[in-house]
Amino acid sequence: MPAKDLDTIVSLAKRRGFVFPAAELYGGFANTYDYGPLGVELKRNIREAWWRSMVRERDDVVGLDAALITHPRVWVASGHVATFHDPLADCKKCKMRWRVDHIAEGQYGEPKRNAAGELLCPNDGGDLTEPRMFNLMFKTQVGTIADDENVAYLPPETAQGIFINFENVVASMRRKLPFGIAQSRVSFRNEITPGKFIFRTLEFEQMEMEYFCFPPADRDNPEEYLALHREWIDYRLAWYRDTLGIDASRLRIRYHEKEELSHYSAGTADIEYLFPWGWGELEGVAARTDFDLGAHGKESGKPITYFDEDTKQHIVPWVIEPAAGLTRTLAVCMLEAYTEEPDEKGEDRVVLKFKPNVAPIKVAVLPLSKNEALRPTARRVYEMIRPVYMTQYDETQSIGRRYRRQDEIGTPLCVTVDFQTVGENGVAGDDAVTVRDRDSQEQIRVPIANLLNVLRDRLPGC
Ligand code: ATP
Repeated sequence: MPAKDLDTIVSLAKRRGFVFPAAELYGGFANTYDYGPLGVELKRNIREAWWRSMVRERDDVVGLDAALITHPRVWVASGHVATFHDPLADCKKCKMRWRVDHIAEGQYGEPKRNAAGELLCPNDGGDLTEPRMFNLMFKTQVGTIADDENVAYLPPETAQGIFINFENVVASMRRKLPFGIAQSRVSFRNEITPGKFIFRTLEFEQMEMEYFCFPPADRDNPEEYLALHREWIDYRLAWYRDTLGIDASRLRIRYHEKEELSHYSAGTADIEYLFPWGWGELEGVAARTDFDLGAHGKESGKPITYFDEDTKQHIVPWVIEPAAGLTRTLAVCMLEAYTEEPDEKGEDRVVLKFKPNVAPIKVAVLPLSKNEALRPTARRVYEMIRPVYMTQYDETQSIGRRYRRQDEIGTPLCVTVDFQTVGENGVAGDDAVTVRDRDSQEQIRVPIANLLNVLRDRLPGC
């Protein structure tokens, strides 16, 4: 069972060092969050799992890390300057600001309307002002003079850096179609609507890949291209389910209706998750045709093409784009992992049942007590494990409380060093430790000499 309500996760995230509301010292700053010591590990692990599945384990995808601040005409070509707008309206009574499309979609519950059918404020039912279109890109300036000449934008997505490097990658990596270019990094959107924790923030991380393929013979009936689109949807859905361990019953694919599609799109499907407030997007898989390469070719005056050795012709590839939200996925991993259940003594415990590959800390080394006799061996075990796995050493408080703490941060394995390990009262130690499993709470005795093998078996994909 995932956490029933978001507040539980928000408070655990703060208490245990995953995610902090940003700038609390100054009264907070809407829609921004800081990632704490465990949050940063969790984020790295999700990104690494994505990179592994999208780049390392595939022969047909390479990586990229393009500049964040780039030529402003990139965003003219992509359409963001002209069309990256949201309709915003204010409540005349409570003054809250809303995205009208979100109210209409039911993101705040069944939409309220007046007798004329116009949407009303979800907060207090007040009348809304006429919606105004608001561009979501953050503007900045390059250099010291703030004029239109020097304007630059913070990137609202990662994709454009990939499109403008298409020819560089083909030439430098001798790539043949079909192939993909993947990139994971921060994006910025001037989101005004009240966020739901890290679901919607000003600054967030995305994991995107552009997969370039041959254009279809028939533009109006691109069967093979759409089949490839479906393949990518399935591949990505399987990643959430199998690699991150998200329950299939809380994942679904939603194909966009014709009216929802951009004019150039041959189809888009969202991978959605059942959040505590309803279904929400985790990733969009878009069949973007040749729109982006074509648009940059037109705007720059230098067509971006691929030379097909077989037909000896220059062609503009078509593209499929799986675009995922890293920070949004982090919230989902926490929601999914959250479990309340009895511990070995029948008392309530909170456990984050992360799959080992995403767990921030893989192993905790816990001497049974602070006793000096245990420390050298415990430190030796810790030094042995830490080069291989993210490991924590903790000797404060009772062993029971330390188990609870590791359960609450989702550490899959605890290794305990006790007096049987080191020996006492003239009896020689067995040089073995206890390995406790987070989920089953089962404990097994393992010789230190064999410990790394046992950890490897129990920490798949780490
Ligand atoms: P939404 O409809 O929720 O605003 P979108 O359709 O605009 O999302 P895309 O442009 O397709 O989103 O971006 C791909 C992914 O990036 C989204 O599925 C989501 O996971 C993530 N994402 C987009 N905007 C934000 C944001 N403001 N905060 C956190 N993650 C975001």
